[in-house]
Amino acid sequence: MAQVAFIGLGNMGGPMASNLVKAGHTVQVFDLSEAACQQLADAGATVAASASDAVVGAEYVISMLPAGKHVAGVYLGDDGLLAQLGSGTTVLDCSTIDAPTSREVGKAAADLGIGFMDAPVSGGVAAAAAGTLAFMCGGEAATFEKAKIILADMGKNIFHAGTAGAGQVAKGCNNMLLAIHMIGTCEALEMGVRNGLDPKVLSEIMLASSGRNWSLEVYNPYPGVMEKAPASNDYKPGFMVDLMAKDLGLAMAIAEHSGVDNRMGKLARQLYTQLQEDGMGQQDFSSVMQKLAAKS
Ligand code: NAD
Repeated sequence: MAQVAFIGLGNMGGPMASNLVKAGHTVQVFDLSEAACQQLADAGATVAASASDAVVGAEYVISMLPAGKHVAGVYLGDDGLLAQLGSGTTVLDCSTIDAPTSREVGKAAADLGIGFMDAPVSGGVAAAAAGTLAFMCGGEAATFEKAKIILADMGKNIFHAGTAGAGQVAKGCNNMLLAIHMIGTCEALEMGVRNGLDPKVLSEIMLASSGRNWSLEVYNPYPGVMEKAPASNDYKPGFMVDLMAKDLGLAMAIAEHSGVDNRMGKLARQLYTQLQEDGMGQQDFSSVMQKLAAKS
């Protein structure tokens, strides 16, 4: 069992840190929110007074923070955590952030002999609680071997995508594709329904045909087709429109940086940004269905 510091105990980080406690690791935690810290104290973690205190003696440091500026703020600079960690420490940043910041933190860590991986996740809050997240890791192979030991207590699929930043690129690719096939699925269902088809029957047909995709298979966006999908629960998340819009912004930066013609991704981003402007940011990302249905 390892000594782990966990920074950022929000919707995702909270249950992830709890799973590490359950697995028997010694876990020291810190979050700016006292309420978030208290939940982890109740789960059996030791709450530190600061991020710096949390990492004392840690073999692994894990962070789950909102955006690149928070990750850079926590790790870089004279007051940052990297300056305090001993060489040989393994740092795993599971936040979804821009790839350049991941590479910058990875480079600063490598210069100090600290192993770093960006390890963003797919799966959302339910998978974080169930310990079934997918991790997409970017960093050195030796760091990946160490990372797997700990990540296995929070997830079930752990991929080594490449060097530092590659995890963020993989996540950007996946979520751009997710947005595109979710929108396509909504358009197909709306077209069928407006032409007299039953959405359940149409879903069955497409599931058995070449239109089959993840949105149809486990997350049907049409209300009433799939009992447990957010669409059948007033589009309560699930995975919020705001988070999808954030991830699409990151994906656009990756595409632009590499000169990719991602016109479908751009359209998907426009649509999700529109949903935010329409006040639907806190709804599940499958609520694009409501938007299409409203335009009659
Ligand atoms: P959240 O806002 O619920 O949690 C973030 C936590 O970080 C908050 O508790 C906040 O107080 C804390 N924090 C911010 N700055 C800090 C600092 N300097 N020191 C210590 N704590 C600090 O966000 P979340 O939903 O848990 O998401 C975290 C990351 O995971 C994001 O990058 C998000 O894009 C990604 N993600 C989220 C989901 C999801 O479904 N929620 C799914 C996959 C990936």
